[in-house]
Order: sequence, then structure tokens, then C-alpha cells
Amino acid sequence: MATPAIPPPYRGRLAPSPTGHLHLGHARTFWTAQQRARRQNGTLILRMEDLDGPRCKPEFARAALDDLKWLGFEWSEGPDCGGPFASYNQSERMIHYRAAFDLLKAGGFIYPCACSRKDIQQAIAAPHAEDGEPIYPGTCRNKVPSTLNRQPSTQANWRFRVMDGEVVEFVDARCGPQRFVAGRDFGDFPVWRHDDLPSYQLAVVMDDAVMKITEVVRGEDLLLSTARQLLLYRALNLTPPAFYHCPLMRDEKGERLAKRHDALSLRTLREHGAAPEEVRREWD
Ligand code: GLU
Repeated sequence: MATPAIPPPYRGRLAPSPTGHLHLGHARTFWTAQQRARRQNGTLILRMEDLDGPRCKPEFARAALDDLKWLGFEWSEGPDCGGPFASYNQSERMIHYRAAFDLLKAGGFIYPCACSRKDIQQAIAAPHAEDGEPIYPGTCRNKVPSTLNRQPSTQANWRFRVMDGEVVEFVDARCGPQRFVAGRDFGDFPVWRHDDLPSYQLAVVMDDAVMKITEVVRGEDLLLSTARQLLLYRALNLTPPAFYHCPLMRDEKGERLAKRHDALSLRTLREHGAAPEEVRREWD
């Protein structure tokens, strides 16, 4: 009789972007990630998603680590504690993203795109995905093979070619079954930027795969990104993790918390003498 496969040990992650101070919404999502890892006796990794050039600042990265520790977070791999990887900062993990880019390019999954954001916005009645991303009208999609394709990666945005009408389905551990239609819910999406950096979608997929993350816990604003990422996992022949998307925290007007809600940043709460147990009061 075949022995049942033993599931790999649980590995979860916290993935802050140091573009400002963390707010209560981030912290609550991260708290869920930490609880889910603890309940499974798993490992929690902290990865700093600091690819977004001028918006990411070392002082925000430092503040995120300090504020999370203040609130009671403990990670066992990442900044301030090390681990098996040379770096837990995305800006120092380019080797993985470049390897993925080369594979996608060699497999014909991506194509260079010369359109600016403005071109896409101006395309007649350019529809938008639910997450606000304009659905790419496909202008450069069929220019392959062309001279464009021979450009170094630095001179164009490279997009992943989605199969129009393809259905992407997955079961989210909190939100249940999800279903998105490629070409309608989202279009060909960027994987590499003209400033020679990977897109969020590519970097996060490679990091979660290389770091052997078994469950991704994040905000439900990223459900549609998860659908895009599943296409990347498949193209790169990688096993996707499980997903748990958390509800978003809203302010009294019903608006999603954002980094501009300074009054609700962990930094401000801390400076005003809030106690960590008080901040987390309803999270356990
Ligand atoms: N760094 C991302 C953010 O702060 C998290 C992305 C993810 O969890 O995949 O929104």
C-alpha cells in the first residue's frame, strides 16, 4: 500500500513593503499570518519587499521591524535574525528574479511592450480590472517575433501573455472558491519593468517558491493578483502555496486603510502611549 504523502512543514511569511509606516490593517493581516503559522508549529519568515525604487526607504524598513516587534511579532527567519538565505530583502535577491525572467522568455511566455501607461489608459474604452489595473489591450502582443524581442530587458516592459478566456480557479482558505477569467478580469500583466526591475507579481512568486512558503496570508485586495500569480507558477513549473486572504480594515468612512492614514500607523499609536495588548485586543 502506498504511504500517504507527508505534507511539507508549514512555512508562512510576513512581507511588508517599506514605502511608509505600517498601519493597523497591515498589522492585523500579519497577526493572522503569525497565528496560522503558530497553530501549525510552523516557521514564520519576514521578507522585506523593497523593490519599488524611490518609494522604499531604509528608515521605513527599520521602523517596520521595530514596530512589529513592539506589537509582539516574532519571526524565525529574516532581517535581524538571519536564516538559510543570503538576504531577505527583495532588492538583494535579483538573481532569482532574473533566472525566472530568462525561463519565461525562453518559453515564449512573455513579450516586450513599448506602450506607456498613458497609451494604455487612452486606448479606446480601456477597461479596468477590479483592482484598478487597466486591462492591457494587447497592442504589442502580436509584434513577436520582432526587433522588439531582441531588446535587452532594460528597454521595455515585458508582459505575461494570458490565454484569453482561460479560467483560473483556486480555493481560498477563508474566502472559498475563486474563479477569474483571463482577458476579462485581468489582461497581459507586467513581469519586468523598463527600469530593469521585476514586477511585484514575478518577485513574489519567485520568493514564495524559493523560500518554500506553504501558505500565503495576505489582504483580500490581492485575490486578483493571486490569479495572475498562479499563471506564473504554472509557466515556471513551480508548485503554488495555499492561500488565505484576510478582510481589509476600513476607516469610519468605509475607506480602506492606507499608509496615508497616519493616525492609525503603528508608529503614531506607539508614540501616543498605546499598549501592544490594547492594539491587538480583538485579534486573537
Ligand atoms: N508587500 C506586499 C504589500 O505590502 C505584500 C504582498 C503579498 O503579500 O504578496 O502589499
